[in-house]
Amino acid sequence: MNFAARTQTLKPEGAYDVLARAQALEALGHNIVHLEIGEPDFDTPANIGQAAAEAIQAGKTHYNPSAGIGPLREVIAQDAGQRRGISVRPSQVVIGPGAKPSLFFPTLALVNPGDEVIYPDPGFPTYRMMIDVAGGVPVPVPLLEANGFSFDLEAFDRAISPRTRMIIFNSPGNPTGGVMPKADLEHIAAAALEHDIWVLADEIYSRIVFDGRHVPSIASLDGMLERTILLDGFSKTYAMTGWRLGYGIMPEPLAEKVSLLLNHSVGCTAMFTQVAGIEAVTGPQEPAEEMVAEFQRRREVIVDGLNRLPGFRCRKPEGTFYAFPNMEGTGLTCEDLANRFLEGGVALLPGTAFGRHGAGFLRLSFANSTENIHLALERMEKVLRDR
Ligand code: PLP
Repeated sequence: MNFAARTQTLKPEGAYDVLARAQALEALGHNIVHLEIGEPDFDTPANIGQAAAEAIQAGKTHYNPSAGIGPLREVIAQDAGQRRGISVRPSQVVIGPGAKPSLFFPTLALVNPGDEVIYPDPGFPTYRMMIDVAGGVPVPVPLLEANGFSFDLEAFDRAISPRTRMIIFNSPGNPTGGVMPKADLEHIAAAALEHDIWVLADEIYSRIVFDGRHVPSIASLDGMLERTILLDGFSKTYAMTGWRLGYGIMPEPLAEKVSLLLNHSVGCTAMFTQVAGIEAVTGPQEPAEEMVAEFQRRREVIVDGLNRLPGFRCRKPEGTFYAFPNMEGTGLTCEDLANRFLEGGVALLPGTAFGRHGAGFLRLSFANSTENIHLALERMEKVLRDR
């Protein structure tokens, strides 16, 4: 079939591919530990579910404004602004079904065919796909293990050109777990201001950070709120991946344009989901905090175990629920090793599922029980021993 050029490079996220292969093996009777999936293994806190159920019963099941209901936009403006030390107006908040629309639609609204877009490599695969769909020119900039998986700033400087329209980055980062230091954000902000470039800051993991760390936001730097799309949501923070609720914070004219794109694509976000979102933001935060504490305990187990595997070295992720060990010392490619581990009963992702600079790494999600993490580490050790 003859498809439009804008869809030609589309492919699914690597996690979906590995999940399908793992499930095929399970159908043949294999036992697989799933460390490929990027979602919390916790249930959505009960108070949030309760709020949604009551909203459905109260008839909050109708069309509503494309940018979201006023009360949710208000509480997000207040909460997201306060956490980052910035002042946000509700009219700058655009709600969508998940955070992904706040990646896709601002990109469609701002990037013309031929415009260059800088994005992190290794990085969340949707960035590259949405740049392609918008007809933009993808300009990957490596993240360096030695920099705690922040940008290689020299490569970043070289990547800036008169055609650069947007810079995308993600901190804390998927797949690396790295947090970009404030000095690097200042470097990026200086370039954005000097060359009049938009910044898309994906902060979806901003609440999943360890050791009491504070994640700096580029939106809080002087002059940046006017040129930043700040993306966050409910999927990871409140274990609400399947609810489809997220948001972007952006300057009002862009918020209006993005609302039009929402209007003519998804229409609006389910109203009862948004009511549940109000409860998530304004209700007790302990369940979300306890989830992070549990991720931190599991981080210790998985990082220690990975560092004991021959040919492996693993930094401690500062946030997210991903470990991103370097496995170059095994002498194998990450794809080959990921396949061998899958055969050996552990599903995980090769670093190259996130771009070519992911070569030499694996991504393991520790959104799984400590027991399963131990089991996975034992199986991986056996695969390496028997090869
Ligand atoms: N950004 C990053 C870095 C992610 O890892 C994800 C989900 O995996 C998203 C955005 C999308 O979030 P949502 O499921 O709310 O659309």
